[in-house]
Amino acid sequence: MSTSFINRQYIENLLEDAKHADDASLAVSLEKAQQGKSLSHKDVAGLLTTENPEHIEEIYDIAGKIKKRIYGSRIVIFAPLYVSDYCVNRCTYCSFNHNHKFKRSRLTMDELRQEVKILEMMGHKRLAIEAGESNEECPVEYILECIKTIYEMKFDNGEIRRINVNIAATTEENYRKLKKAGIGTYILFQETYDEHIYSQVHIAGPKKDFLWHLNAFDRAQDAGIDDVGGGVLFGLANPYFDVMGLLLHNEHLEKKYNSGFHTISVPRLCSAPGMNIESFPNLVDDETFTKITAVIRIAVPFTGMILSTREKSALRKKLLQLGISQVSAGSSTEVGGYTKRQHNEKTNPQFLVNDERSAVSIISELMDDGFIPSFCTACYREGRTGDRFMSLAKSGEIGNVCLPNALMTLCEYSMDYGDDTFRQKAAAITEKEIFNIANGSIRQKTIENITKIQSGSGRDFYV
Ligand code: SF4
Ligand code: SF4
Repeated sequence: MSTSFINRQYIENLLEDAKHADDASLAVSLEKAQQGKSLSHKDVAGLLTTENPEHIEEIYDIAGKIKKRIYGSRIVIFAPLYVSDYCVNRCTYCSFNHNHKFKRSRLTMDELRQEVKILEMMGHKRLAIEAGESNEECPVEYILECIKTIYEMKFDNGEIRRINVNIAATTEENYRKLKKAGIGTYILFQETYDEHIYSQVHIAGPKKDFLWHLNAFDRAQDAGIDDVGGGVLFGLANPYFDVMGLLLHNEHLEKKYNSGFHTISVPRLCSAPGMNIESFPNLVDDETFTKITAVIRIAVPFTGMILSTREKSALRKKLLQLGISQVSAGSSTEVGGYTKRQHNEKTNPQFLVNDERSAVSIISELMDDGFIPSFCTACYREGRTGDRFMSLAKSGEIGNVCLPNALMTLCEYSMDYGDDTFRQKAAAITEKEIFNIANGSIRQKTIENITKIQSGSGRDFYV
């Protein structure tokens, strides 16, 4: 049965009280955050709503330290793959909404192979399948066929090793099928936890049912999918309300399934064909968006945070320091977009991307900024999902796993897709970071594996 664990009045009271909180109580919350203690809802509401520049700087400082301590310099790279833009819903913020007239399509398996081949040539190992909602044009069987086709594909050294899926809320039975097909994370954005605004921006279609959407992760978990990724579309409602909603949703899942969000995505409303951005009164500016990102990082330190190519390069850099652990690179946000881009064809994206550089230049710049781009997909392949993943993350042992995997996959990427300059950068990062692998035998094994990758005598290593 669908139920709501989002208590609107409770969140509104928290945010209202936070507005009147004095500096002393905020200092207590900041001290708790500094010491890595878990924060109460009241603490989080206080951090979200503060406008005191000194406090905000302190929030950034704490978030940056947490990011460094738990995730080091690693940034996981992925690409979205849009397979169908048929949609029966009328979401006012989305270019794929049913009322927007444009030529819709769904990839044939041959077209899908072509898209995947291009993504593999870019070096991607981790995809997120994206599709609009249409039982007629895009039933779950079609998504299952896509997954099977992609996992079967290998092109030169290219290979997709993890497929995350971002499709509409569906039945427990369909989630069982997705689980059986071997998906990584099931991603679904709540868009907003403010039920009133939810109802205004979802004019018609199955997605209009707030509770059906809200309880989708319960059905997914009941079907055995223990890696779920949440998110909201910042800019629809009061962003502070939505952050509190995300936290309550996460707590609900932790309590019921012992496994909360594996990731939280932080997309921000932006322009798209077929929608008018000026009709949205709650758009979020860069400063607020940065603060929100930092507060989420502090509130749920072990949950990965995903940023899309919607954001401009300069802001992305800052957010990577403060909390983001996964980014897309070289993305297209439309069906057949990678193939169209190769042929310079006119396009109809779901939303406009602000960072249109190629994957390799984004990845290269990440290294220039001191990050380690990671193509790791190990946890899914090792069965480290749900509460198994969380206990590893919370024990701190994850560093002995993520860092070697990041360095080995970066080495593989640099050998397969990099030029000399790129390889030199990757080698310099590896030389510097290898000593941060705390476990001596894992460090030694990593060095041996990297040598094998460089000499071409081995590949696809992970721990
Ligand atoms: Fe369809 Fe999703 Fe776009 Fe809504 S947000 S119109 S469900 S594709
Ligand atoms: Fe992610 Fe697991 Fe790889 Fe770490 S080891 S980057 S948590 S897949």
